[in-house]
Amino acid sequence: MTEKIKNYIGGEFADPHSGHYLDNFNPSRGKVYSQVAASDSEDISRAVRAAQSAQPQWAKLPAEERANYLRRISDEILKHAPELARAETIDNGKPITLSRELDIPRSAKNLRFFADAVSQFRGEFFSDSFSTSTVRYTPLGVVGCISPWNLPLYLLTWKIAPALAMGNTVVAKPSEVTPYTASLLAQMASAVGLPAGVLNIVHGAGAHAGAALTQHPDIKAISFTGSTATGRMIAQAAAAQFKKCSLEMGGKNPNIIFADCDFELALKTTMRSTFANQGQICLCGSRILVEKTIYEKFRDALVARANSLRIGDPLLETTEQGAVVSEAHMKKILHYIEIARREGGKILCGGERIRLAGELENGYFIKPTLIEGLGPSCVVNQDEVFGPVATLMPFENENQAVAMANSTRYGLSASVWSKDLGRCERVANALQAGVVWLNSWMVRDLRTPFGGVKESGVGREGGDYGLRFFSEIKTVNQPLGAN
Ligand code: NAD
Repeated sequence: MTEKIKNYIGGEFADPHSGHYLDNFNPSRGKVYSQVAASDSEDISRAVRAAQSAQPQWAKLPAEERANYLRRISDEILKHAPELARAETIDNGKPITLSRELDIPRSAKNLRFFADAVSQFRGEFFSDSFSTSTVRYTPLGVVGCISPWNLPLYLLTWKIAPALAMGNTVVAKPSEVTPYTASLLAQMASAVGLPAGVLNIVHGAGAHAGAALTQHPDIKAISFTGSTATGRMIAQAAAAQFKKCSLEMGGKNPNIIFADCDFELALKTTMRSTFANQGQICLCGSRILVEKTIYEKFRDALVARANSLRIGDPLLETTEQGAVVSEAHMKKILHYIEIARREGGKILCGGERIRLAGELENGYFIKPTLIEGLGPSCVVNQDEVFGPVATLMPFENENQAVAMANSTRYGLSASVWSKDLGRCERVANALQAGVVWLNSWMVRDLRTPFGGVKESGVGREGGDYGLRFFSEIKTVNQPLGAN
């Protein structure tokens, strides 16, 4: 039976006011398995009103009480982890092992992390012989959180946790492509008794529900993760209302592999950073730069491993590569592979859709693809493909590697592989990226700032950076007077 994913507004599950629903696909089957509310500006207005009426009481609660609600939702996530992991895999196409080991535990951790962080969060105090000043971080009011499809529950909770912790109420707009776990989160918020209107979830297309949320005059801030093209539209709409805006956008991340690296570790990690989640993580390395003296050895080893990845039903424990998220996205990825061919790239492995048997026959599966022979300025080395596709390019020396790495409009993350730690540090300093990993990938301390430079991002999430984003800063001054 087709399930209807409704909006969650003012503590109630509600049909969209238009009565319309969008088809929601299971990408590994290539077929519709549920319906999701096609909301518009009226639904957004209702959600904003519900959030406004809940906000004063929510903000008045001691931080520790708000934190306790977040902890209870976190516990619910862990209690329902198997169901959530399955839901994420069905909705997104990612292997169940990834949902179980990354997406769901990290979602629970996000809530608990910000519950703990807000308990320790404090303002500032300044004094001199004439006055004292206190700096207070106060809630903004009602804020909007817009999240993408690649890490659906993980990135949604990463936004709503700091927003709620700081005393704001939230209208969230999850991706219409993967709405399932957001609706389960709403059920959990309801089950733990989160006061009505504190968290509202409105589903629907970005151009309708998302744009209405961004443009709503009573939304005080927008925290967005998604593509650079959408981020640009959001930034323009937010600027017109002087609205606070945090943008986490696309990437074209380089993996820089020097000849003196730990070869096996670099190889193993590059496989993961290239193909994890079918290459659909903003932090995936999609340009693999290898020092010329080990280029062929590294390339051949990487191709051999890519060819041996097990592609299959994402619900099976043994599957390493699942489906990409949608038919439209699959076509986009295949189009880029075609462009690479036209630009003279040599497809070393993959390069096509794969048809699996039985009920997976119409699933959106793409063979892990590695391409060489393209210069740094080719389209596929400039545009974000966001699929199981990476290019390999040889470099002669450190300066050339840095110049190639920096030669795109993006600047999200990079990884550097060398046993020469001085070189690692030099290269890290020279890279135009918000996050650099040395001899590693995806190592995250949630207290550290996360975000990109250039067209990859504006602002930083994580730790106190996230809590401060969701606050208004007020300075209260007091003269000491003369004695
Ligand atoms: P997207 O930009 O298409 O959609 C993201 C969200 O924005 C969705 O909820 C969508 O409905 C909404 N949206 C679309 N148009 C809108 C509009 N006009 N106004 C308001 N909201 C709108 O991105 P996607 O395809 O869902 O996600 C993939 C992209 O996300 C990739 O570019 C990836 O690099 C990026 N991403 C970045 C990070 C990061 O931390 N930098 C993390 C994950 C994903």
